[in-house]
Amino acid sequence: MTAANDRIDQLVRPELRALPAYHVPDPGNLIKLDAMENPYRWPESLLDDWFEVLRTLELNRYPDPQATALKQELRRRMAVPDSAAVMLGNGSDELIQMIIQTVAAPGRVIMAPEPTFVMYRQIATVCGLEFAGVPLRADFTLDAEALLAEIANRQPAVVFLAWPNNPTGNLFDRTAVEAIIEHAPGLVVIDEAYAPFTEHSFLPAVPDTENLLVLRTLSKIGFAGLRLGLLAGPEAWLAEFEKTRLPYNISTLNQACGVFALQHYDVFSEQTDSLRRDRAALSAQLQEMPGLTVFPSEANFILLRTPPGRADAIFAGLKERGILIKNLNGTVTALADCLRVTVGSPEENAAFLAALAECL
Ligand SMILES: *Cc1c(COP(=O)(O)O)cnc(C)c1O
Repeated sequence: MTAANDRIDQLVRPELRALPAYHVPDPGNLIKLDAMENPYRWPESLLDDWFEVLRTLELNRYPDPQATALKQELRRRMAVPDSAAVMLGNGSDELIQMIIQTVAAPGRVIMAPEPTFVMYRQIATVCGLEFAGVPLRADFTLDAEALLAEIANRQPAVVFLAWPNNPTGNLFDRTAVEAIIEHAPGLVVIDEAYAPFTEHSFLPAVPDTENLLVLRTLSKIGFAGLRLGLLAGPEAWLAEFEKTRLPYNISTLNQACGVFALQHYDVFSEQTDSLRRDRAALSAQLQEMPGLTVFPSEANFILLRTPPGRADAIFAGLKERGILIKNLNGTVTALADCLRVTVGSPEENAAFLAALAECL
């Protein structure tokens, strides 16, 4: 073991050595409200047709390298402007990785307001780039002046903006985001993982904006298990990202299931609509509970702040009562006393509220 460690120390960069791997807790039998999944499985009525699709697949062959049919369905369902190019990833995480790999060079900086989605920092670090986080204001709104000043100062190759932001749930001011796109010397990626839960999007602006990329994913609308993300942007940029894409990154199963799911999009958009209504109800009920600060959300989760020093005990109490949410207390100072709960089915939300009432 010591011999192995010596060699590891020799060969693995110190910043990678210091990095913990992305950890996902085992949910066991808990009600899972920690990962922004859609709580609903595919309806029974779709299963036979889906199995018929699976029956036809030739898994002895390599997949369609361009995933042509899937791209076409995605363009249609997400209303991607015709003049924007698109690229698919095995989850949008993979697209974030391809973007960062494309600009990776010594001295390059990747920037994002923080707290935000942790993969921007993680992937930048793995690729050997510096990650510069710029703090959000205490209420988690965007400090546009501070971000613009840091952009001028550090000249980041890429600025990532999760919009709505994870784990805070809010949408940054659109005018501020436009100013950032205008003043950034490099690329600006608007990560719209939560697009199905808000009315707002930068997708229509892609054809007119030379340095704008928009990321989408199917994970939050019911296909987290599929792993499918989409990047829309200028053709010339996507041609460069394409060089970092491993061939056949979207498997035959993934392509076929994606096309099938998108052909039944109405079923899933009804689920998202009801989750949006349930978010409003859950948020209202949380606001009535003593001592909680409930942050506004345009996503399928809600960020809460507990009374000082209580988050860990409340998180543990919920777990004892069979409910798994996300404890953000202890991750970064800005998220002290914060918990994040995914909007589940009405039954799951009711179980969460009942357990929470006992824990407060
Ligand atoms: C969940 C999430 C993603 C990851 O999506 P995958 O497509 O499942 O890889 C990307 N960005 C943000 C902001 C997210 O919250």
